[in-house]
Amino acid sequence: MYCRNCGKEVHPQAVACPSCGVPPHLEKKFCPTCGITTQPNQSLCTKCGVSLISGSAAGDKGKVAAGLLGIFLGCIGIHKFYLGYNNEGLIMLLVSIIGGIVTCGVATGVISIIGLIEGIIYLTKSDEEFAKLYVRGHKGWF
Ligand SMILES: [Zn+2]
Ligand SMILES: [Zn+2]
Repeated sequence: MYCRNCGKEVHPQAVACPSCGVPPHLEKKFCPTCGITTQPNQSLCTKCGVSLISGSAAGDKGKVAAGLLGIFLGCIGIHKFYLGYNNEGLIMLLVSIIGGIVTCGVATGVISIIGLIEGIIYLTKSDEEFAKLYVRGHKGWF
């Protein structure tokens, strides 16, 4: 993606832009997809048509949805996939299914508890904190 503050190319999960030091999703001066100049109140990029409101490559994922998915479907890592954490989701899914078979369900239980705890953690965060840690940032676990 392009830094929305300085327009330089930056890793989508970077906490701060290496060129300007500002979180790359914080400002609204440049399009994250094509890098052209945008207005702060613009909702769509005039060049590439991408939505500028979501503020992040992962989109503005709902805290409540992620929390509830973790609590109810955490045993197969659905909340990880929802947040775009495919690697972590896959780990939970595989450990839960394959580990569950090998350990007669113990691993599945452990993964369910991790999902439950993570879901509760998501719900206890403020919206801003949640977005900072899990949407704009990349906190894979807890
Ligand atoms: Zn920058
Ligand atoms: Zn664009």
